[in-house]
Amino acid sequence: MKELIDPFQRKIEYLRVSVTDKCNYRCGYCMPEQGVHPEGNHTEYLSFDELTRVIKAFTELGVKKVRLTGGEPLVRKGLADFAANLSALPGLVDIALSTNAHHLDKHAAALAPSVNRVNISIDSLNANKFNHITRGGDLVKVMAGIDAALAHGMKPVKLNMVVMKGTNDNEIEAMVDFGIQKGVEVRFIETMPIGPAGVSMMDQHYPADKILKRVREHVGSDLIPSSSRTHDGPARNYLIAGTDAKIGVISAVSQHFCETCNRVRLTARGFLALCLGQEDGVDLRAPLRAGVTDEELRQVIIDAIAKKPERHFFNENVHNIEFRQMVSLGG
Ligand code: SAM
Ligand code: SF4
Repeated sequence: MKELIDPFQRKIEYLRVSVTDKCNYRCGYCMPEQGVHPEGNHTEYLSFDELTRVIKAFTELGVKKVRLTGGEPLVRKGLADFAANLSALPGLVDIALSTNAHHLDKHAAALAPSVNRVNISIDSLNANKFNHITRGGDLVKVMAGIDAALAHGMKPVKLNMVVMKGTNDNEIEAMVDFGIQKGVEVRFIETMPIGPAGVSMMDQHYPADKILKRVREHVGSDLIPSSSRTHDGPARNYLIAGTDAKIGVISAVSQHFCETCNRVRLTARGFLALCLGQEDGVDLRAPLRAGVTDEELRQVIIDAIAKKPERHFFNENVHNIEFRQMVSLGG
């Protein structure tokens, strides 16, 4: 079988698919207050059939893992059926979901047979603060979503908290306790200079090493490194010594992880983005709609991977990367 190897000898095995750039929440670091393209014509978006065709082509080129993300993937109707169809693709061993969990209690039962891993964003355990950070989010719904995912056996369920200095950094310890109580891993994410606030996000940046120090002091034991290259990607994961609880940190800024990058991203409009922090990419929608054969589609993808950049430059601030929209790229 053909494989996708980029110019820096990295094997591409992981595709993140943003199924929509729309979202029912408006987290300040991610989404403009007015949302994105409210007037957007739905034909701009790849249909589920088109997305399936692209994902199938990737699996024929060695991609084994797909993450469905957004925007908020659960605002797109028919996601569970789409995921079920994907699970029939030979070679695709892992389907994951990133969600704000607002609608997860309704959909967990239908998703559970095909979606194995779920990452849920939760930046605060305080209902008012949560509502403020997400500009309208409902913590009660998110809690119901977390419980539904666990009740339906989705595994692992991970909680992602973007740590913002002066906003929610006082909740690091509470989030560790919450994760232990629920039996789920909590991952602390450094803010990235991306999205509507761009580089000004860095005013709220809280470095991963400080987070780890606080976690260590709080639990009063060592943190034993326990990352799995296959599933953890940029996350550095730790087992809390003497327990079976895990925590992780994702530090795209203070420590870039580009040398082991094994992923590319497909936007809902069919743009294949080759790096989270660079503009490089190719449009797959035009060839798809021009009637390419399966073989030609695979070749378009192979040619695209040959252009994957070596790394991003978040921590050097040399590029203006405010244009990047996390809602399009799916995190
Ligand atoms: N709506 C889903 C959610 O919130 O999990 C999936 C899409 S969201 C774009 C994926 C992840 O990107 C979330 O964990 C979110 O917190 C993270 N994210 C978005 N903008 C970010 C930024 N500027 N810095 C760090 N993380 C960001
Ligand atoms: Fe929506 Fe997720 Fe972005 Fe928040 S982080 S605005 S929930 S897409």
